[in-house]
Parts: sequence; structure tokens; C-alpha cells
Amino acid sequence: MAETTTEFDAIVVGAGFSGLYMLYELRRRGLTARVLEAGSDVGGTWYWNRYPGARCDVESLDYSYSFDEDLQQEWKWTERYPAQPEIQRYLAHVADRFDLRKDITFDTRVVAAHYDTPSATWTVRTEAGDRLTARYCILATGCLSVPKAPEIPGLDDFRGPVYHTATWPESGVDFSGRRVGVFGTGSSGVQAIPMIAQKAGHVTVFQRTPAFSVPAFNGPLDPEWEREIKTNYAERRRQNRASEAGIVRGDNPQSAHDVDDEQRQREYESRYTKGGFGILGAYADLMADQRANDTVSDFVRQKIRERVTDPEVAERLLPWEYPLGTKRICVDTDYYETFNRDNVTLVDLRRDALETVTANGVRTARGEVELDCLVLATGFDAMTGAVNRIDIRGRDGAVLAEKWGAGPRTYLGLGTAGFPNLFLLAGPGSPSVLTNMVTAIEQHVEWTGRCIEHLRTHGYRTIEPTVEAEDGWVDHVNEVASMTLFPKAASWYLGANVPGKPRIFMPYAGGFATYEKQCDEVAEQDYRGFALK
Ligand code: NAP
Repeated sequence: MAETTTEFDAIVVGAGFSGLYMLYELRRRGLTARVLEAGSDVGGTWYWNRYPGARCDVESLDYSYSFDEDLQQEWKWTERYPAQPEIQRYLAHVADRFDLRKDITFDTRVVAAHYDTPSATWTVRTEAGDRLTARYCILATGCLSVPKAPEIPGLDDFRGPVYHTATWPESGVDFSGRRVGVFGTGSSGVQAIPMIAQKAGHVTVFQRTPAFSVPAFNGPLDPEWEREIKTNYAERRRQNRASEAGIVRGDNPQSAHDVDDEQRQREYESRYTKGGFGILGAYADLMADQRANDTVSDFVRQKIRERVTDPEVAERLLPWEYPLGTKRICVDTDYYETFNRDNVTLVDLRRDALETVTANGVRTARGEVELDCLVLATGFDAMTGAVNRIDIRGRDGAVLAEKWGAGPRTYLGLGTAGFPNLFLLAGPGSPSVLTNMVTAIEQHVEWTGRCIEHLRTHGYRTIEPTVEAEDGWVDHVNEVASMTLFPKAASWYLGANVPGKPRIFMPYAGGFATYEKQCDEVAEQDYRGFALK
């Protein structure tokens, strides 16, 4: 695009799971739309996070679109948990199958979106200087799409290559025989470390906070299971949407205190051996009651001890500083077993403090480790990072990043007062990252599509949340979070991983089904809490 101004009904920022479906939904309702995507292809988070081992921790049959019966029947997943290349192929297939690419501009980063009150339109500006205008601006920018600055002293002095898991080279990295240092033991590190260790000469893991990780028991997708799901896919999807996590995981309504220790151990064992995070659904109060959570945290800590041969190494891998689940639980393949390999060393930065990265490696209180390359699996400026880095201005020139200076403020995570016709998909204040993201995305896209149709049918030019409704929702999100154990962890849910970021629990912890019900009620009550003009 040369420096032109082009008009659309809607502009969508981002072509990941949410942006692609949003485009489909807008088109289906007869609107013109343009999707602007910084990457060179569809995929969003899954386009950028192509590090070795990158894989979804939600099962493939659930981590996929439900909006088209033929699509969900014809697509064949190969594994229980899909790996990044397969998800990328899936999203490319969706884009081709529904001819979405013709309305997507790739390699285009949005830098600004300004609202003009007299015309009630948004003007979106790209890094290349192009301008597009539209009545609606929809941010499908992803919850985990902006890597956070690693804040590791001396990093710029390092002479070898430095790779971040979230901006992995498309051509891959050959670690053969190399001495690799890894920072970060969250989901990305837990997945990448075992894969890198298989190739590298030596891997040194610099661990700041240990993870709670449970095995995936991944494998080829069981054809029987696939047949069973596909025979009545609509019912499976309905159950996902009727659940609190956006996914069927057999949530048990009992308290962990209702049963004796032996019964609890049996329940945890049975869920643990099935793989994945179903263990979180073992009892209803695991995320709300510290003593209940202690029982499952102890169980998983014991499993970690059993998986690691050297008891001293095992002790260093045990998380004690937060309750299980309050930082996103990791789902792994051979993570702990990797520390049994001769070519892997664990440096516990809690006991062996990091001093600096040097030209040739990493120096800690106990000396310098020489390294050929570094891998950073250090996480994201989550949930608000991608929104705040766009210069978004609403009515009267209000700057969104300033409005959100003390933490994000939204109504239902869908919109924010002072910014008419701006829609957030899976925005802060919605369940998003605490649930199956695809379930959450589908619900937001469909709600937004219906809302826009409502505006057009009834001749409204604008919609935006009222300040009162937004204040009420922000209070509600905080109140619900305070009833859980989540605030006990210095997690990215709270913004605690980014120095200086306000500590506000950003996702809605009230559960997906409860949340969807509230969104539907708002719509049915003529968009209660929104001002329509
Ligand atoms: P993360 O969970 O934020 O983990 C970042 C890791 O880097 C933490 O261990 C953190 O330690 C460490 N770290 C950060 N800055 C550091 C520093 N300056 N020095 C030393 N260590 C540092 O990030 P992530 O692993 O990329 O995962 C983010 C989220 O993405 C996940 O929680 C999940 O929701 C999603 N994800 C999902 C999958 C999947 O589906 N399987 C895979 C990858 C990611 P501290 O804990 O001490 O801060």
C-alpha cells in the first residue's frame, strides 16, 4: 500500500485465531473489513513462537474452531496436543478454505489508531505510513504477543547469538555440539529445554523461579477418540462453552477437604496419569483455598522428586514460592527427565545469584559458565502490551495507554469507556488466558459480530461502555480475583513479570460459562452498560 487512505466498515488488527475468525464473521454479516498483520503469514502467536518443542497445552480437538461443521470434520489432527507447525498449517488451511487472505495485509504493523468524533470513524496508521479508516476498530492483538524486555544485565555484551522463543528464526537454529544457556522456565522454557538438550553439546539452565509442570503424555491422536468426538462434535463444543475453563476436564464440584488423604491421592494420581492440566479440576477449591491447594502442590512436588534422579537437583526444581496453578501450570514432555542427562546443568539463581552476562557466557556468584549462544524464554508483556504499544486515541484525544496507566480498565473485556466502536478480543477483564483461548475467542468474535449487526440494524453510529458500567466491572474482576489464590503469585496474570507494570489481576477469574452468561444478558438487555448513539 502506498500512502493512501482506504475506507472499510471495520479494521481488524492481527491475523491470529481471533483476527481470522473476526474477518470471517464480519464478512458473513456483509461488512467490508481489512486485517492488518505484522507477521508475513497468518497465525499470530503461533506464527512467532516457533521454537523447538512449541506445542499447545490444550488438546487439538478442542483447540480448534467450531464455527464450521465441515471444517471441524475434515481437518485431521495428528497428535493429542498439536505442535506449532501443525497449528500453523491449520490456520493457513482456514485462511485458504474461506478465502480470507485477500482481505489481509501482511508485514504491516499498526502504530496508531485515532478516533474522529464528527465522522465517528477510526483512522488506523501503519508503520509504513498508510492510513485506513473504518467505523469499527477491532483489536485482535493477542494476549501473549509482545515479548517483554529480558532485563538481564550485560546481555548486549554477549558475543554469540541470542534467541528469544517468541521471535524464533524461521529457518530454525542448529544447536549441534553448542554450549547453550537458557533463561526462563515457564511454559516456553519447559518445552524448549528438552528439545535443545537432545541436540546441544551442553545446556545450562539459569532458573529464577521453578515451574509446576505436569506431563502431557502426548502421542498420536487416538482414532477411536477422534471418531467419538467427531460423531457429536457440536455437543463437545457445547460442553466446552458450558464449562468454567472453556474445556471439558471433568471438574469435580467437591472440596478437597471432603475426602480423606488416600482418596485425594487416588484422584490426583488418576488425573496426573491422564496427562495435561485436568488435575486442576480435581477439586473445586484448589484455586481458592490454600490448604486445599497444598494437597495438590505437594502431590506434584513429589512427582517432580520421582522424575529427577539426583535428589539435590530435584530439590532445586521444586516450586515453593507460589501455589500450583497461580502461575500458569506447564504441561511437558520429559522436562524433569532432561535434568538427568549428562549434558544438562541446572543453575538455581536463588542460591547462585546472577551477576552478569559477559562476552563469553554468564557469570554468577559461583563463577562464569562459557557459552556459545543464549536462549531467552523470558515471557511476555501480557494482555496489555500489544494494545498499549499502539498509539490509540479515543474521544477528545484521550490516550488509551494513559487511561490504562494504573492497569487496564474495560467493561467485560470487550470495550473501554471513551473509545467508541473500539472492540477488544479476549481483552483484559475477560476470561481469555484462564480458559481454552479458542473457546474464549469464538465467544468474543460472535458477541462482537452480533453487536455490530445490532448497531447497524437499529441505526446506531457508536457504542461504548459507560464509565459506571466499566468501574463496576473492574471492581467485579478485582473482587473475584481476590477470592482466589491467584494474587499470591508474582505472575504475568498480575503484570508482576514486567518491572514497573501496575499489579492488577488482568483476566476475569469468574469462569467462562459464568462470563458468557453475563455477556449474553448485557446484549439481551439492549446492551446494558453501553451507551449507544
Ligand atoms: P513466562 O511464563 O512468563 O515465563 C518466563 C520465565 O522467564 C520465568 O521462568 C521467569 O522467571 C523467567 N525470567 C524472566 N525474566 C528473567 C530474568 N531477567 N532473569 C531470569 N529469568 C527470567 O513466559 P513463557 O514461558 O513464555 O509463557 C508465557 C505464557 O504463554 C504461558 O504461561 C502460557 O500461557 C503461554 N504458553 C503456552 C504454551 C503452551 O500452550 N504449551 C507454551 C508457551 C507459552 P520468574 O518466574 O522468576 O519471573
